[in-house]
This record gives sequence, C-alpha cells and structure tokens, in this order.
Amino acid sequence: MTGIEVVLLGTGSPLPDPERAGPATLVRAGGLAILVDCGRGVLMRAAAAGSGAGALDLVLLTHLHSDHITDLGDVITTRWVTSLAPSPLRIVGPPGTREVVDAVLASLRLDIGYRVGHHDDLTWEPPVEVTEVVDGLVVDEHDVRVAVAPTDHRPVHPTNGYRIDHDGRAVVLAGDTVPCEGLDRLCAGADALVHTAILDEAIRAVPIPRLQDVCDYHSSVADAARTAARAGVGTLVLTHYVPALVPGDEERWRALAAPHFDGVVEIGPDLHTVTV
Ligand SMILES: [Zn+2]
Ligand SMILES: [Zn+2]
Repeated sequence: MTGIEVVLLGTGSPLPDPERAGPATLVRAGGLAILVDCGRGVLMRAAAAGSGAGALDLVLLTHLHSDHITDLGDVITTRWVTSLAPSPLRIVGPPGTREVVDAVLASLRLDIGYRVGHHDDLTWEPPVEVTEVVDGLVVDEHDVRVAVAPTDHRPVHPTNGYRIDHDGRAVVLAGDTVPCEGLDRLCAGADALVHTAILDEAIRAVPIPRLQDVCDYHSSVADAARTAARAGVGTLVLTHYVPALVPGDEERWRALAAPHFDGVVEIGPDLHTVTV
C-alpha cells in the first residue's frame, strides 16, 4: 500500500452508543499499524479493520481523558496473552502517561499472577515501553516519521497532537483541542487533518452546566474547518462526534464547515476509511 490509510475505529461521544465506539483511530503507513487513542470498544473495531492487538506497532495517546483511554488495559492484556514471545507495546503520550500505564498494570496484578502461574510458556509480565513527550520527533523508521506538538485542551494539560509523515504524505491527528499554535504547526503542509469536533449549537441549547463546559475546550466544526483552511490541508476528517451524530445529519455538520473550508470533509460511521 502506498500513502497513508486512516481508519476511524471509534467516532462516538463519551456516552455509550450502540453504533459508535469510543474515540480511536488506526493509521497504517509504511507497514506500521499505529493506534491513536484507545476509546471504548477499540479492539472490536480494530478486529473489524483486520488488526489485532498483537499487530500494533505503536499507540499514540493524545491525552489522558478517560474516554480516550478506556480500553488501554484491553490493548495491553490482549496483546500480552496472545503473544508467543515478549512483544513490548510502545506507548507514546503526554506526561502522565507513565502514571496511567503503571496504574493499569497495577490493576492487572492478580490477573498477571493467575496467567503466569497457569501457563508454563508465559513467563513474562506485559511488556510496555512508555515515552512521555510534548514536542518534537518521536518515531523515524520504515519511512514513517511521527512528530508531536502541544495542543490546548485546558484544563486538561499537557495534551498532544501528532503528525504522521510517510511516502510524501502527511496526516495530522488533533485529538481534543481548541485552535492553537502547536496544532497549526503540525498541520502546515499536511494532506489530511483528523479532528474531533462538537456541534456547539446543539450543546449550547441544553441548559445543563456540565454539558455547557464541553464547549470550553473542544473545537466546533467551524473551528476545525478554520484550522484546516489556515494550514492549506486538503481533507478534514471529523470524528468523536458530540453530541452523537445521527445518520442523515452529516449534511448539517458539513454545512457548518463549508463557509470556512473548501476542501473535502469526511464524516462517517465507525470504520470509515480515508486513504491519503
Ligand atoms: Zn474526548
Ligand atoms: Zn478530552
């Protein structure tokens, strides 16, 4: 495969949804399978996309909000129990990632004991390599480069956006953020931007304070569209729809991007795939 393939594994909001898994995106580039965030149901969707936990080369976490890391333990344990030899899972995330991974492993301490005690050929604990970063180049292998820059999802801080370059193409994964300099820097000259987005007009219409707070630190569809346009990105891929995107409502979302961005806007169900 040439270019970069982006599979929206989970496009859902933080609320359980029978049709949409939690936020997670699979990027395939240069033979590498890169998982960005680990929302609810990620391995079920990855299986549907033809990737198991053992096939992942890298996990990138944009931030440590629970809805983006719900199934990190599932990724770690499933890879561990299905590997015939130690196969370290590389996890890259903002500072705090080590604490989260250590806590996940601590919660699995009994399970690890059961399995190592039972299987003679399973003599190792789940091997995990954590890299905490906020800026710079974190991966450069197989003609794949992964760069990180800080995003702005305050009070959640620090948070990361990622840019994956391969074969002359580039895809940026913004995660949850408001427009910011770090994201603009990643997007400059990129081909596609995968951005989480909220329908802020729908949220603002519901007078529940905890819901109103959501608008403080997320990009609206218009914000995401303006970020894409500023950088000259050709394709804007929207995901992690809040509130849940009802089938048939795609044009309403597209219409909010249209005044700001004249490129392609991709909106889809889980497993929607875009090749750049
Ligand atoms: Zn989120
Ligand atoms: Zn978040």
